[in-house]
Amino acid sequence: MAKVLCVLYDDPVGGYPSSYARDDLPHIAHYPNGQTLPTSSGTDFTPGHLLGSVSGELGLRSFLEAQGHTLVVTSDKEGPDSEFDRELADADVVISQPFWPAYLTAERIARAPRLKLAVTAGIGSDHVDLDAAIAHGVTVAEVTYSNSVSVAEHVVMMILSLVRNYLPAHQVVRDGGWNIADAVSRSYDLEGMHVGTVAAGRIGLAVLRRLAPFDVHLHYTDRHRLPREVEEELNLTFHPSAREMAPVCDVVTVNAPLHPETEGLFDDALISTMKRGAYLINTARARIADRDAVVRALESGRLAGYAGDVWFPQPAPADHPWRTMPHHGMTPHISGSTLSAQARYAAGTREILESWLAGAAIRDDYLIVDGGKLAGAGAHSYSTTAGGGAA
Ligand code: NDP
Repeated sequence: MAKVLCVLYDDPVGGYPSSYARDDLPHIAHYPNGQTLPTSSGTDFTPGHLLGSVSGELGLRSFLEAQGHTLVVTSDKEGPDSEFDRELADADVVISQPFWPAYLTAERIARAPRLKLAVTAGIGSDHVDLDAAIAHGVTVAEVTYSNSVSVAEHVVMMILSLVRNYLPAHQVVRDGGWNIADAVSRSYDLEGMHVGTVAAGRIGLAVLRRLAPFDVHLHYTDRHRLPREVEEELNLTFHPSAREMAPVCDVVTVNAPLHPETEGLFDDALISTMKRGAYLINTARARIADRDAVVRALESGRLAGYAGDVWFPQPAPADHPWRTMPHHGMTPHISGSTLSAQARYAAGTREILESWLAGAAIRDDYLIVDGGKLAGAGAHSYSTTAGGGAA
């Protein structure tokens, strides 16, 4: 029997909800590329309910316990005395979400001799040391596509919020004021701007598609070029690298995984090549941008705004400079954890567990590491420090 250790974010401050703002979720037939939604044999939760916090348990308890497995759920994940560290010693499976990542470092993996499977309930497995997972034969899987559109919508919201100066204008209202000049002195139209994405995978392409009706000029860079018909349909300009794309853009959105190729990409040097007054939106991973370079660029006016929902570490400390830097539109890490997304990634997590517990293959689309190497989606989009990936 397996011991499944699930690290989830805390319940709401006011307690687990007893009612919700809406009664149902729209039906989504399939993902935009035709990929099927999760195919678990069933679910033991109500779609639209809070599943990603401790009391929601990703809807897994009755399914696992009915088969005799053990489920431990905790939000206590930091430090050697944390429940996560204590329970890890004999865990077979670890599940966590990028919003509240259980950092599976090489050291922790070495202290978890039974660990065979690390599941990301969501997308982005950089909180797992992939080199160590490869070395120890740990399979790493994530629920590919489960929240890609959720993030794309957040990116569009953040681009408009920054360019239109929405958050400061809203604050004027909350403060009881009516100074129009205060509200509009940093407000522009997005129309006609040059908008580029670093990576045009599931999220990046969804962002491009959503922005096309705004009559902007669309740019992208990626390791693999999109099909010509997509480039033509969206009138995309391809750039071989972020370094070549960034200087021509008014808005840059980052939608690549964090791995050795992208870590620290937006440093002082690259940001200094961007147009004065450009906007940078990063909902991918915090460490793709240099924390202090972003602060300096906002203070100097090189960047007119920075927004995103990803921080390092998470949760961000109270004195993290991105909380107080000028002209930012940061949120906590929420874009991929809407109630809509939770229903998909909870079902996808169960699909992965069902396959693994039955000794059956996990969908290739979900695999990041398997059999001691990058596999499936991971082989396509990730690299390791030893190289590899980018098939
Ligand atoms: P995909 O795998 O669909 O897309 C990632 C894309 O990044 C691929 O097209 C890949 O290229 C490209 N890429 C990888 N390395 C580079 C590079 N060095 N330069 C340019 N492009 C590169 O993933 P998603 O779009 O679904 O998600 C992207 C990332 O967004 C995730 O890895 C995660 O970090 C983050 N994310 C954030 C969430 C949030 O809540 N804020 C939620 C979900 C994801 P190719 O495959 O062509 O080699």
